[in-house]
Amino acid sequence: MTQCLLTVHAHPDDEASRGGATVAHYTAQGVRAVLVTCTDGGAGEVLNPAVTDDFTPERFVAVRSAELDASARNLGYSAVHRLGYRDSGMDGTAGGAEAFVRAPLDEAATRLARVIADERPDVVIGYGTNHTRDPHPDHIRANEVLTRRVDLLDHTPAVYHIAFSRRRHRALHQACVDSGVPSPYEGGLSAPPGAFDDEWITTLVDVTKGDAVERRLDALRSHVTQVPPASGWFALSPQQLRDAFPYEEYTRVGAAPREAVVHDLFTAPA
Ligand SMILES: [Zn+2]
Repeated sequence: MTQCLLTVHAHPDDEASRGGATVAHYTAQGVRAVLVTCTDGGAGEVLNPAVTDDFTPERFVAVRSAELDASARNLGYSAVHRLGYRDSGMDGTAGGAEAFVRAPLDEAATRLARVIADERPDVVIGYGTNHTRDPHPDHIRANEVLTRRVDLLDHTPAVYHIAFSRRRHRALHQACVDSGVPSPYEGGLSAPPGAFDDEWITTLVDVTKGDAVERRLDALRSHVTQVPPASGWFALSPQQLRDAFPYEEYTRVGAAPREAVVHDLFTAPA
């Protein structure tokens, strides 16, 4: 039976910037990948100076939705499910009554549970609870909905939180220094303790095979309104990224402290 991986993301573009190469890696091996995006991204702004259109709010949402589909194609997703909430904005005040943060938790969890009941994934990937460097209320809500969702399920996939360790920040920062380009990773070097500590990592997915890294960058580029060509995401070339740090990192929910690291999301330790 085909293995299935389901990811839960807050906004269009999060699926590209968080764990995108992992999805590209697994879909290249025949794994079915399913994306759940909780909000429409409508509270964002155009961040690419090359995009000069003056979008109406409705048009902006439509453009971001099309960008999401293009990104998902690049990563090899078989399906994109939209939970249908409005983006709550960085301060949590956008989106009106349909904002993700104002939706009843059980209602949002039930929407996610229906997708999971249909898809029956072996692996679910979402966000962790350490948001000290990621305070977006929709990201925090996505974690709450995913956590709630687990209680509603009649089967138990392995659940992972996306991580980004201090070790990875150090390696990527050093690669930028060595190549003489400005480093977008400097902030992570002084991150507070928590999910950024190396000992929380349970699973390292090697994303150096094939073109997983290129596909992650292509997915990012699909978000034309959000990702300028001069973005820090492209500071290093795909090969430099592979050489500097060959993995994307995860913390398996329920793992024992300092559990031995494994290299496959579908292989939980015995
Ligand atoms: Zn987001």
